[in-house]
Amino acid sequence: THVATISPIGSNGRPGGCLVFLEDMTHLEEAGERRSEFVANVSHELRTPLTAISGFIETLRGPARDDPEARARFLDIMERETRRMNRLVDDLLSLARVEDVERMRPPEEVDVAELLSGAVRGLHPQAERRSVTLALSGCDLPARAPGDPDQLTQVFTNLVENAIKYGREGGRVDISLERLDDAQLLKGPGLKITVADDGEGIDERHLGRLTERFYRVDSHRSRGMGGTGLGLAIVKHIVNRHRGRLRIESKAGQGSTFSVFLPLD
Ligand code: ADP
Repeated sequence: THVATISPIGSNGRPGGCLVFLEDMTHLEEAGERRSEFVANVSHELRTPLTAISGFIETLRGPARDDPEARARFLDIMERETRRMNRLVDDLLSLARVEDVERMRPPEEVDVAELLSGAVRGLHPQAERRSVTLALSGCDLPARAPGDPDQLTQVFTNLVENAIKYGREGGRVDISLERLDDAQLLKGPGLKITVADDGEGIDERHLGRLTERFYRVDSHRSRGMGGTGLGLAIVKHIVNRHRGRLRIESKAGQGSTFSVFLPLD
């Protein structure tokens, strides 16, 4: 609790009374703590690749100067770390954009089927690198809903990208679009977009925290895959902004299914 007191001076020059303001600051303190934690996380995420890069610069100047093989290897690592920092900055900007309520664009009628198939098409090269088959269904007919086309594309891209990254190598990702006359989670008509992989799945105790910024089940694996830990936080924000719902179902060892429900009205 925050207490402020002011003692106005009376006409005789002596304190004429006392005003006391009481304000519950708990929510502000919590917001402040979350902000500090976020800044600490961001610094850590940026510092890790920076430390690696400056270490390799030292090595390239010194011991590895005359070793072409080592030089090539270190330059590859430096390039990978730089790419990771770029992705982190991109994701931070996306997160800031979707969190900025004032800059929200009014929703327009978009064809979700077209956006979903466009996002999936763009991810075929990535899927091929892990020999993953992307199977898309339900996108033959237009499916119009109010929304922001860039943001919805980002939702679909993040979910399918995760399914490719964390799914089984050589496995399959099923992506489908359905129209529901009465979606329970929305209490009305909506579109349901499902992304299901046959990977190792997620242990139940992590499910509730996956959409927190920087929350990862296996940090080493996420980093190895080039992850920033922000993808699902961005997804959750965008879905909320569309007054939609995100459902995550998974069991360790049995693959994961991410479903997005978007209201039609
Ligand atoms: P990242 O950049 O680490 O992929 P995300 O926010 O997209 O960050 O995801 C958070 C974490 O959720 C990931 O690090 C991973 O542990 C887990 N995760 C996300 N999608 C899947 C999936 N399809 N299968 C298994 N785990 C997943």
